[in-house]
Parts: sequence; structure tokens; C-alpha cells
Amino acid sequence: MTAEAPRAGQARQTITYVFPIYNEAGNIALLHETVSKVAEELADRYDVGFIYVDDGSKDDSLVHLQALADADDRVTVIELARNFGHQMAVTAGLDLADADAVIIMDSDMQDPPRVSLELVEKWEQGYEVVYAQRRSRRDTAFKKLTASAFYWFLRKVASIDIPRNTGDFRLIDRKVVDELRKFRERDRFLRGLVSYIGFRQTGVLFDRDERHAGVTGYPLSKMLRFAADGVLGFSVAPLRLISRLGYFISFLSFLGILYVAGVKLLAPETAVPGWAFITIGMFFLGGIQITMLGVLGSYIGRTYAQAQGRPLYTVAAVRTAAKPLPATTG
Ligand code: UDP
Ligand code: MG
Repeated sequence: MTAEAPRAGQARQTITYVFPIYNEAGNIALLHETVSKVAEELADRYDVGFIYVDDGSKDDSLVHLQALADADDRVTVIELARNFGHQMAVTAGLDLADADAVIIMDSDMQDPPRVSLELVEKWEQGYEVVYAQRRSRRDTAFKKLTASAFYWFLRKVASIDIPRNTGDFRLIDRKVVDELRKFRERDRFLRGLVSYIGFRQTGVLFDRDERHAGVTGYPLSKMLRFAADGVLGFSVAPLRLISRLGYFISFLSFLGILYVAGVKLLAPETAVPGWAFITIGMFFLGGIQITMLGVLGSYIGRTYAQAQGRPLYTVAAVRTAAKPLPATTG
């Protein structure tokens, strides 16, 4: 069992929530209030902490976060030096969290804080990873459609089994967090890494809400890039596709040769049409070649970025409650 009831005199176990924050000024107060209430139900058994990672927000999220840190000494705010993206923000939080279990949640109230209690319950039963799995979600039809197509495709091509309908909302035991810290890949797809690491994993069903305030930090371009990280990070199927396509096209041209030879031998008076075929063939092949160069480029680009070995993110400051000034007499 992972979480035994602490005996008298034994240090209490700790649970830390990690929240990535990008332009969430309108959500921070409500989020902290809600999650604090939920945490009260854990307070008899655990020491609960909150890490808010400001991912270079352009609104006044940081001001709100500083206020939280000043008012609540369970709060730590990590200020990243610029916007590094959702996955890096979560990574920064995981790197700093020193807890027996970490709960990762979105900060826009789409992941209902109450569900985290169910995650803890499963953890107490001995699971090291408890992911929250969407029974339903209130997103645009476009988002739902693209998400389900993406997960269908990923399950088909990826070398690991990523549970369907899950995001990063999950509880991770310290053991898994420690393993996760060893994975310093730049193009991060955390939910894939967590599946890859293994341990005992289970899911809890929940209904995903609408974003409370503000707008999504995942426009289409970021979504596509994230999807590519999922596929390219866990599969070489696109590389295999290149050779398969090559075989297929070679086979087609072989059929073409047979056709031309057949016509010349059996009906020499029939003219084999020339220029149209050449032009179409040229553009067809050119298109395929450039596309496949793009596939190669995606892998090479990722290899290059990884070879540079740059740090994943830069922390500008870590803010905790302002320490009260020592009492002075005078
Ligand atoms: N987020 C972040 N950095 C970014 C984009 C988003 O830290 O560059 C955070 C955001 O504040 C939220 C979570 O990641 O807590 C999920 O983002 P969002 O709700 O915008 O994505 P969606 O739910 O629309 O997929
Ligand atoms: Mg959201």
C-alpha cells in the first residue's frame, strides 16, 4: 500500500496540487477557494500544498498569485521567465513538488476540484497513477471531434497504451514523479510519458466542465504541435510510412512499364500518350517527396533540439508567503 494511515509521531504524508497558469486572472480566486474547500476534507490525514506555475501570463495572473501566496502559506508560486507552454509549466511544478502525491489540474475550472478526492481514494487503495477520465466534456464540437480522431490515431500508431479521453488531470505518486523527472525530452507529451513509465494505473470517470473565464491557451496551431508531439514522441510509424509509400509507387511504375511494353509488343500501331502522364507523374511524385521530407524533418528537428540540450524552462522567481518581519522592540 502506498498511503498508510500515519501512526502517532510519524510524519504526515503530503499531497501537492500543481496548477499551470496562463492568462487565468479571472479564474485564480475561484479556483483557489474551491480547491481549498476540497482540501479541507483531506486536511485530517494529509498536509496539502498548492503550486501555481505562472507560464508567462500576459494578464495580471501573477498579481493574483502573489496575493494568494501572501495570504496562504500553503501556496508556492513559480514564475517562469516567459511562456514555455502548458507541458513545461506542469513539468516545472512536478520538478519542484516534494510530496507523496501530486495532483495535476487545469486552472480554468474545467477539471472539477472535487474529483481530486476520488483520485486520492484510489491512491489510498494502492494505485500509483490515477488519471481522471472524461465521461463527457463540454467543449466545441470541433474540439471533441479533433480530440477523438487524434486519440484514435495515437492508439493505432503509438508504441504505448495511452488511455482514451484523458488529459493531464491526474494524481501521480512520488515514485512516478521521481521517474518522470528523469525524462528531459523537450517535446513533451506528459500523459504519454506517464503511461510509458508504468506502475499500477487506474482511471476515475468525471464530467468535464466548461472553462469558467478567459479563453483557451490552446489555439489550433498549438493543438497541432501538441498532437505531433504525441505521435512523433511515441511512434516511428510515419517513418515506416515513407518506405511503404516508396514500395507502393515503385509497384505502380512497374505496372506502367508492363503496360507500355505490352502495347508496343501486342499493338504497335497504338500510340502511348506521353506528356500528360509525365507531367502528372512528376507533380505527384514531387508532392509525395516534399511531404516525406517534411516527415523526416520533423524527426530531425526534434533530434536537433534535443541535441542542443538546453534547459527545459527558466524560473524567474519562486514566491512563497512573505515572511513576517521579526518582532522588534524600540
Ligand atoms: N496553459 C499554460 N500555458 C500555455 C497554455 C495553457 O500553462 O501556454 C494552462 C492553462 O492556464 C490551463 C491549462 O494549461 O490551466 C490548459 O489550458 P487551456 O484550458 O487553455 O486548454 P484547453 O482546455 O482549451 O485545451
Ligand atoms: Mg481548458
